[in-house]
Amino acid sequence: MQSIQGIAVSPGIVIARAFVLEQFRERIPHHQVAESDVARELATLEQAVEDALESIQADRDRAEADLGTEPAKIFEFHLGLLRDPTLMEPVRNRIETETVTAAFSVSEAFSSLADKFRAMGSRVFRDKARDILDLERRLIDNLLGRAEDRLSTLETPVIIVGHEMTPMQAASLTEEMVVGLATDFGGRTDHTSIVAAALGMPVVVGCQTLTEHVDDGDMVILDGFAGKVIVDPDEEVLQQYHDRIKAIEEARSIVAVSPDEEAITLDGTRIQLMGNIEFPREIPSLLEHGGEGVGLYRTEFLYLTSTSEPTEEELYEQYVNCVRNLDGGPLTVRTLDLGADKHTQAQALEPERNPFLGLRSIRYSLQHLPQFKRQLRAILRAGAHGPLKIMFPLITTMTELKQAKMILADVREELEDEGVEIAESVPVGMMIEVPSAALMASTFAKEVDFFSIGTNDLTQYTVAVDRGNQRVASLYTATNPAVIRLVKAVIRAGKRRNVETSLCGEIAGDINYTMLLIGLGLRILSLVPSQIPRVKQVIRRVDVGSCERLARKVGSFDSERRTLKCLQDELKLIMPDLDGGWSTA
Ligand code: PEP
Ligand code: MG
Repeated sequence: MQSIQGIAVSPGIVIARAFVLEQFRERIPHHQVAESDVARELATLEQAVEDALESIQADRDRAEADLGTEPAKIFEFHLGLLRDPTLMEPVRNRIETETVTAAFSVSEAFSSLADKFRAMGSRVFRDKARDILDLERRLIDNLLGRAEDRLSTLETPVIIVGHEMTPMQAASLTEEMVVGLATDFGGRTDHTSIVAAALGMPVVVGCQTLTEHVDDGDMVILDGFAGKVIVDPDEEVLQQYHDRIKAIEEARSIVAVSPDEEAITLDGTRIQLMGNIEFPREIPSLLEHGGEGVGLYRTEFLYLTSTSEPTEEELYEQYVNCVRNLDGGPLTVRTLDLGADKHTQAQALEPERNPFLGLRSIRYSLQHLPQFKRQLRAILRAGAHGPLKIMFPLITTMTELKQAKMILADVREELEDEGVEIAESVPVGMMIEVPSAALMASTFAKEVDFFSIGTNDLTQYTVAVDRGNQRVASLYTATNPAVIRLVKAVIRAGKRRNVETSLCGEIAGDINYTMLLIGLGLRILSLVPSQIPRVKQVIRRVDVGSCERLARKVGSFDSERRTLKCLQDELKLIMPDLDGGWSTA
């Protein structure tokens, strides 16, 4: 039995077999095979190519049905390559003449072709290089019978164990049999963790050496409350955890709230609970959990799932879909927040030294105007179908905000000239997620209709800690007095200038913070949908006066530890029936 400490991201406890993902980009070793095995390698290659052709064709058909013929054309390049004898013949020849494995031969041929494309310089060719590497991975996955295929054929529940994962890989873990996730890398609020938590299962990241201690099929306990992974537990520990799961379920049923019950404090103050989403498909679950609308739609994820940039029409369809499915609740569309840990294929080819301090978010949009305008057009058009707001991310200077607003005004004018139906008026807001914006909030307030405080980034930029780096994770906490002071200043500035202020960082969904946030004056929170019932339950058990007293008390503390302890103690007092369950802090 081995117990490994990581960082708790999403609460809950599960016990299941481990499903260990192989490293995503490994070097294929130069393996020789016996002469007598050459025929087998060739046959395996033919089968892998056939399977790849079949799955690409299926993807193309699906894209054609969902998105139309143009977007489906991106698959033609892949299909053409696989059928191209000038590429595939050398792969077969190498297996025969050098007696190597099919995987090695594929890897050599595809990697060298990708290098040639890359050397041609232009972005178009570099994108093609990326396509070739994607295709290489698909073929090698087929040859080695790798994870992606195994995942879709699972028959028993598993906990995914991996070294590192991108946000997109986390987003694809939607199979019913995946009941938890644990990784070596990552921090509590990096985007991979956010996406995984949105799937509503326990998640523990930053375990550092977990993959060295787990083998595929090992029994694993994933404790999403304590941020712990126990590998190969003994009978006694297993029993303890089974008992704990039972106790948590009982506590949950005692304190469960129905989605129809209002988020209202004991003294009658209403708190609006909105949802953070990454994909339109999350809206039904948001409504089931009692969300009143979307407070943060992270639109960049649509760009990450596509191999080419989505068209205005595709974006428009997605946004309209969201507006319609929200039943009159508002949709807060945040414009692209690309860069840092969320990059497109084009960005991946131009790595930055300090990506979180680099060409990220609104900065990226302002340097890629055609793309930015396409998105703004789609948003304004979707606004004609229901309540919608626009929010600009990572605003750091007034010039950026004014530029973004000017471009929005230009786009509006263009659409009006074209006679296209658009929203008459759309509230325009900004995220406050860098200290410069927080400190200047009362100045920014003159230019916007609303603020949304993004504590995930505000914390990382205030305490100078990469939100995704497990090595310094203990320093990354919104209980840091400097972060709380900035949040308080923004709420005050918003109140004074009559600018609606909400908070959409992950702490909005962490019940340890609920009383503090109410006490600081917030009345709108936007959070991961699965946490809404829990936060609502806390709200229904507190009164604003005691929350304000707590905020004052915490305001006098000089350390994050003391603050966290105080918040936890206060929560225990109002939720004694939780038995330590429901919270990850
Ligand atoms: C934030 O920074 O708090 C936020 C909500 O945005 P994201 O997590 O997408 O960076
Ligand atoms: Mg952010």
